[in-house]
Amino acid sequence: MEVALKIDVDTHQGLGEGVPRLKAMLEREGIAASFYVAMGPDNSGRAVIRAFRNRGFLSKMIRTNAVSMYGLRTVLSGTILPARPIALAFPGIMRGLKRSGFEVGVHGYDHVRWQDWIDVLGDRGMHEELGDAFEAYRAVFSEAPRSFAAPGWRTSSAALRALDDMNLDYRSDTRGRAPYRCVVEGQTLATIEIPTTLPTLDEVMGRGDLGDRAAVLDFYLAQFKSDALNVHTIHAETEGMGELESCATLVRALKERGAVFVQLREIASRLKAAELPACEVIRATLPGRAGWISAQGA
Ligand SMILES: [Zn+2]
Repeated sequence: MEVALKIDVDTHQGLGEGVPRLKAMLEREGIAASFYVAMGPDNSGRAVIRAFRNRGFLSKMIRTNAVSMYGLRTVLSGTILPARPIALAFPGIMRGLKRSGFEVGVHGYDHVRWQDWIDVLGDRGMHEELGDAFEAYRAVFSEAPRSFAAPGWRTSSAALRALDDMNLDYRSDTRGRAPYRCVVEGQTLATIEIPTTLPTLDEVMGRGDLGDRAAVLDFYLAQFKSDALNVHTIHAETEGMGELESCATLVRALKERGAVFVQLREIASRLKAAELPACEVIRATLPGRAGWISAQGA
């Protein structure tokens, strides 16, 4: 049984606190994983508008050393960001992941903007999101990213095409069954898509029919397929914070069942794009998740 842990990092707190805890747990268990970090401002919640009304905003910015980050972002785009940065606030944590052998890819720039406005961003907005995300990655690592995972599993024809032009090793934008190539308006794109194959913990807990953590664990263990690639997305904000122990328990249970943990880049490197099925990317809903996600079509 092969298991790829895809770890999405959506927020400043997720990277600053959740990622170091997850990293320590993964190292303790001796397993591989792939991290995808939202590079840009943390616009989660409505803290932004509150912050501007708050008289302590300026001192908070200085205290958290955010000023230099705003400075860099200002240079990059010519605008001032009211939200806390994510990747650029913790370059040491980012580099530490790679130094320890973990894979690090891009999880968009402004997670909230991408998720909420993907269909109205337009070509210019889309290229801004991708350009700023890749620029921030390069600022941290001094090299170009090789993979992308769409915020909220939401993509569009414009996003799929724009990312295809970047010649990445693969992307992981959708929910689905197995690796494939995306068909956009009749055209099969070159980049390999490795979809998330399992439901996320927040979806499972949101179902309401699994009473406690033991039931959730049993549910997951029944989901993993022994004869297929299992891509499980976890979140720095969930499994890295309050659900760290649940995650460690699942990892140990999978190890006991002989699971081999692989990184998505390893999977991509052994796949041949030409041999993969070509599938439409459809929009669907999932139990326990609000709104639509992009999924592998028939
Ligand atoms: Zn995310």
